[in-house]
Amino acid sequence: MREYISTRGGNERISSTAAIIKGLAGNRGLYVPAEIPRLPFTIEEMFGKSYQEIAFPILKTFFDDFSDEELKYCINGAYDDKFDDEDIAKLVQAGTAHFLELFHGKTAAFKDMALSILPYLMTTAMKKEGIDKKVCILAATSGDTGKAALEGFSNVDGTEVIVFYPHNAVSVVQEKQMTTQEGKNTHVYAIRGNFDDAQRGVKAIFSDNKIAVQLADRGVLLSSANSINIGRLVPQVAYYVYAYIKLAERKVLQIGQPMNVVVPTGNFGNILASYYAREMGIPVKMFICASNKNKILTDFLSTGVYDVHREFYVTNSPSMDILVSSNLERLLFHLHRKAFGSNDKAAETVSKLMEELDKGGRYELSDQVKKEMGQFYGDFSDVDETLACLRSVYNKHGYLMDTHTAVAYDVFTKYKRYCCDESQTVIAATASPYKFPASVAKAIGIPEMKDEFDYIDAISEKTGVPVPDGLRDLKNKSVLHDKVIEVTDMEKAVINAVT
Ligand SMILES: *Cc1c(COP(=O)(O)O)cnc(C)c1O
Repeated sequence: MREYISTRGGNERISSTAAIIKGLAGNRGLYVPAEIPRLPFTIEEMFGKSYQEIAFPILKTFFDDFSDEELKYCINGAYDDKFDDEDIAKLVQAGTAHFLELFHGKTAAFKDMALSILPYLMTTAMKKEGIDKKVCILAATSGDTGKAALEGFSNVDGTEVIVFYPHNAVSVVQEKQMTTQEGKNTHVYAIRGNFDDAQRGVKAIFSDNKIAVQLADRGVLLSSANSINIGRLVPQVAYYVYAYIKLAERKVLQIGQPMNVVVPTGNFGNILASYYAREMGIPVKMFICASNKNKILTDFLSTGVYDVHREFYVTNSPSMDILVSSNLERLLFHLHRKAFGSNDKAAETVSKLMEELDKGGRYELSDQVKKEMGQFYGDFSDVDETLACLRSVYNKHGYLMDTHTAVAYDVFTKYKRYCCDESQTVIAATASPYKFPASVAKAIGIPEMKDEFDYIDAISEKTGVPVPDGLRDLKNKSVLHDKVIEVTDMEKAVINAVT
């Protein structure tokens, strides 16, 4: 059986079902596979296969304690006609890149790729472990995880889902998507703070024994819908493998030839999934990590120093307005394991670095480990550059990106100028342009309007790009959640939600 261990060490070795249920390890580390598996198939074997058929063997090798029937039930339940494209993840060539469109799910952002399957994995895992408690799913969100988690878990028996988002720091569309969520088990709170505050609050609730006891008394177990949960990360690996198979199948590249990936990055989950795909055997030359003005990762990748002492900016790519990227901890673990050749030694150093981060807001990698980051390239795009890039790709190639994808394309252009690398490149297109209509409209020259929702029709008229179902009538939906709370009241909100 595949074993999962904590990035911060300890003797805990658990199955994938247990790791999915727990979300975060007891010592506050993140679960990683004790060994990353190799691809269980050759690329040729997968030519002509559907997304679901490719995802199955990948999920099966990570989640090997699920039976074939159980996993197929999860995959087929998640990736069905909720998606508005039968490819599920659609690879579209435009300009000099291939856009991997990950936003065809119900909430129009890539978070659906994992959060439409997580509820299936979670409830199946609970059944397998014979747990008949209620699971309370917590999610801190910079805008997109929240809605995708709410949509995924809404009215799922045996679950409550609680979302915390930063007040006044998500797009109007993102906020309305969350505040209009139906379902008797859904809870939505705006917090007076930013995403990092929300994420810190959620992690604190997880490591608070007092709350655990109070919840246990009520027959409730906590878990996480953030990408700290391995059940979210693994389904994301599948689409990078899928993209490579499609490029080879279309003869854009030959099997064995590497591709580059560009990922607009916030919490480091999505780009980490591409790293897992490479570790499984997919040839990747460069991982291009694209940031907005909150460019802590750009600085980290070039210097090996992670330092949160800096100004926090609210940008036009709000889902990436993050300073503390949780999943970087997993990358650190894997890089240290490569450098030291040992899980234990890797975990020991990672624990130390994370303690430094907690206490002093800063850590620095050793030279030996810095070298292991050579395949990562980081750069950033500021607010105006992002809009200019969005406009120019639309005008030149007729392809309409959202602001996050535009950050990625802008950084891709910078990388090409700097590195003269002609490898085929896959850009993770992480959201529909209609999730950020005010910025997109501004970029393509639509005059200013009073109501942000009116931009949706204006963009659709101008570009002919279809509006996703879930956003079309959002304007007229009634608000069902309107609570704004202090960060210090997050705990209380959790207790209230489950009683
Ligand atoms: C969440 C999100 C990101 C960042 O992804 P991470 O996995 O957190 O790095 C980028 N773009 C959009 C649209 C998102 O919703």
